[in-house]
Amino acid sequence: MNKDNGKLAVKRTATGLGLFALKTIPFNKRIVEYVGPILTNEEVDQKKGKYFFELNEKSSIDGSSRDNIARYINHSCRPNAKGYTTGKRIWIWSLREIKAGEQITINYGKSYFDEHIKPVGCKCEPCLKKSNNRSKKP
Ligand SMILES: [Zn+2]
Repeated sequence: MNKDNGKLAVKRTATGLGLFALKTIPFNKRIVEYVGPILTNEEVDQKKGKYFFELNEKSSIDGSSRDNIARYINHSCRPNAKGYTTGKRIWIWSLREIKAGEQITINYGKSYFDEHIKPVGCKCEPCLKKSNNRSKKP
């Protein structure tokens, strides 16, 4: 496990696993690095994984290793964090204060959403709330 152990924890959610804050994270702080080998676009096309994080127009980080706890961060249409590239590294930063116990979420981006999420329907909290409200109406 990595050095962020203690501040973050992987826990079960309604839809699988997620990454949670154990302590309050202030706004605009580095939360965790998205780690893994750097692959070129051609290698990414051949591998067909689900944990690629785009580094630049030529390459991505393959975050599928279990050592990469950032891979447990789920998609949200209203996320509280975002990945930023610094050179050849990607760090997840907080977009607002994240309270202890809250799940950390990022927006996976349009191409991932259209390919993997749209076909089955988005199960992020804001979307689930929306569909619950809709089904409650007469
Ligand atoms: Zn959603």
